[in-house]
Amino acid sequence: MHELSAALSIVETVLQAAREHNVKRVTRVNVEVGEFTFLVPEQLRFNFEIASQKTVLEGAELNITMVKGRLHCNECGFEGESEPDPSLPPQIAVFAPMKCPRCGSSATEITGGKEFFVTDIEAEVAES
Ligand SMILES: [Zn+2]
Repeated sequence: MHELSAALSIVETVLQAAREHNVKRVTRVNVEVGEFTFLVPEQLRFNFEIASQKTVLEGAELNITMVKGRLHCNECGFEGESEPDPSLPPQIAVFAPMKCPRCGSSATEITGGKEFFVTDIEAEVAES
């Protein structure tokens, strides 16, 4: 139910912004999703549709931008995009130390790809 809780947090964030800005209807929600969140875009979109029912978000388009994971290697100083370990399924690989693509060391830190946030919203504002 990973995607459902993610979808609920999107809806909550947008609803709060919508209340603050007197929004009548949200037409589009742009989100950034990092590779290391392991969220599946189709699943996220499906759960968003469910979570947004009967709110000002109902029928809004969810636009998902995937962000590549980034690594820093403490061994050789490599900094760049991660390469998934092909021997591990992605759901397990997230808990395993990521190997440096240059030197193979496991002394790495994830420096990007865990982001998950709403970047902006397109909406119709109610006339006051
Ligand atoms: Zn390295």
